[in-house]
Amino acid sequence: MPGFESFGDAERKEVQDVLDSGVLMRYGFDGMRNGHWKAKELEQALQEKLEVKHAQLVSSGTAAVSIALASAGIGAGDEVIMPTFTFVASFEAIMMLGAVPVLVDIDDTLTLDPKAVEAAVTPKTKAIMPVHMCGSMANLSALKTICDTHNLILIEDSSQATGATYQGKPLGSIGDLGCLSLDFVKIITCGEGGAVLTNNEKYALHADHFSDHGHDHKGNDRGAETHPFLGYNFRISELNAAVGLAQLRRLDDFVSIQKKNYNIIREMLSQVPEITFRSVPEGGEESYSFLSFFLPDLEIARKASAALKEAGVDGCFHYYDNNWHFIRKWEHLRDLKTLYPISSEVKEGLKYLKTKTFEQSDNYIGRNISCLIKLSWTEDEVKQRAESMVKAITSVLK
Ligand SMILES: *Cc1c(COP(=O)(O)O)cnc(C)c1O
Repeated sequence: MPGFESFGDAERKEVQDVLDSGVLMRYGFDGMRNGHWKAKELEQALQEKLEVKHAQLVSSGTAAVSIALASAGIGAGDEVIMPTFTFVASFEAIMMLGAVPVLVDIDDTLTLDPKAVEAAVTPKTKAIMPVHMCGSMANLSALKTICDTHNLILIEDSSQATGATYQGKPLGSIGDLGCLSLDFVKIITCGEGGAVLTNNEKYALHADHFSDHGHDHKGNDRGAETHPFLGYNFRISELNAAVGLAQLRRLDDFVSIQKKNYNIIREMLSQVPEITFRSVPEGGEESYSFLSFFLPDLEIARKASAALKEAGVDGCFHYYDNNWHFIRKWEHLRDLKTLYPISSEVKEGLKYLKTKTFEQSDNYIGRNISCLIKLSWTEDEVKQRAESMVKAITSVLK
């Protein structure tokens, strides 16, 4: 999914506009900026492309998740249901607000299992946060039903699935709020950046103010603005937004190149009867950023992962043993290693992590290998890669 692979004149031109005007900040300085409002332009472009009324650009995907939660009024003691397989940003953002991350099992979609979600709802639950990992999605209609039944907020983290759709709608536009990351390893990038998406006027206003110290952004005298509530600085710079503007125009091309490469590899791997593929919810269309598949058991997956490395096939992840994405490696969360004291409510709320096991997640992540799909491969390289993968994997199946 790497936007960083494809980088050129279009990005350079947008950045040059900003450097020429000298205004690197997204707010104010109206007289100096020569009509360049890159962050505003990118917000409008995101709104059109992702079919939402409001897009708030911010400094990172982690900021986007934090702002989405805050905009929906989630804070001290509230519970947010999230998957055991994600990126650490999910629980970091929840913890920053003094809320409690409630981790639940994933299924063969590699994200939230609706049955596990339903079982985890308590009177303290405020939101469900599916994370659309590795270019595909959670079963959003099942999750929406649970939200409707229990009056919960649905927050999609589609950082890893920009460009994918569910029942014809872009991911991130379906929940009450959606979050994107535009960091350097996502399908399109600003260098660093993120966005909060919503159709809800109130949440949009909250996100706008909260990401800039509570400024109301009325009029064009920053010093004279009022501050309806406390905020923080999660602003994106014009330089970063300029890069994203050029990248967003190329999103469809990126997805279609990935799809072509993905299909070649998938077809080859399909010849191996022991391999099964990640399930995509009905009506879902992936961004094809990764090809994710399952092997018969943990040991075979471990051996296959080593054999792929040995064969020089890079970019294939066995997340069970990876340091970042799966609950087994989150000791710092389990042991509550924070720099600052946390509330007794959060301590109490996270006690379950000491004892609870997640066999279902272990089963799926243990057997899963997810391979990054790149844009820059030639057709020959993709075919060679697919052949090397089949060879490496079959060698450990004997
Ligand atoms: C990358 C990522 C984030 C965080 O984004 P940053 O821009 O790196 O802060 C959040 N959630 C998921 C699923 C991600 O992959």
